[in-house]
Amino acid sequence: MQYELPKLAYAYDALEPHIDKQTMEIHHTKHHQGYTDKLNEILAKYPDIAEKPLEELFHNSDSLAMDSADKFNFINNAGGYWNHKLYWEAMGPEKQIDKELVKEINDTFGSLELLKAQFTKAAMVRFGSGWAWLCRGPEGKLAICSTKNQNNPLMHSHTPIFGIDLWEHAYYLKYQNRRAEYVKNWWNVLKLM
Ligand code: MN
Repeated sequence: MQYELPKLAYAYDALEPHIDKQTMEIHHTKHHQGYTDKLNEILAKYPDIAEKPLEELFHNSDSLAMDSADKFNFINNAGGYWNHKLYWEAMGPEKQIDKELVKEINDTFGSLELLKAQFTKAAMVRFGSGWAWLCRGPEGKLAICSTKNQNNPLMHSHTPIFGIDLWEHAYYLKYQNRRAEYVKNWWNVLKLM
C-alpha cells in the first residue's frame, strides 16, 4: 500500500483572503507531501502493517508491532497524512452545509456560536503544535477534542469530523503569531457549517 498526496478539490488561491495562496501551496506540496513520503518509507519496512487501514492502526496504536523509533515516526507521519487529508476536505471556497451535522451541533452544544466558542478555546489552549477537532466520542456523541503534534483522535477512541491545523506552518506567513485571527477566519472556509 503506497499512499499518494491527495489532490485538492480547489485551487491554492481559492481560500483567499482567509488562507493565502502561498501558505496553501507550501502546506500541500511540502508539508503534506513530506508526511506522505515518510509514511511510505516507514510502511515499506512493515508490509503486514501496511496492508491495514490507517484508521485501524490509529485505533490500536499502543500495540503496533514496530520498534519504538519507527512507531514514533509512524504516528507523526501517518497522523500528518491523515489529518491533512481531512483538513483539505472540510474546507472549500463555497459552503456545502451539512444540515444533519448542524442540527446535531445545535442539539449538543446549544448553537453554532457556542460550538465555535468551545472549539476556539480548545484551539487557543493547545500549546505548541497540534490540532483542534470536532469529534464523535465512543458513545457516538459530538465532542470537542484537541491533539498534540500530528496525533489523531482515533488514537483516543474519538472519530474526527473536522479539524483545524494549529501548526504555525498553517498560518504564519499571513497571520504570524496571531493564531486567534486565523481560527476566527477559518470558519469562513470550513464548508460544512
Ligand atoms: Mn499542517
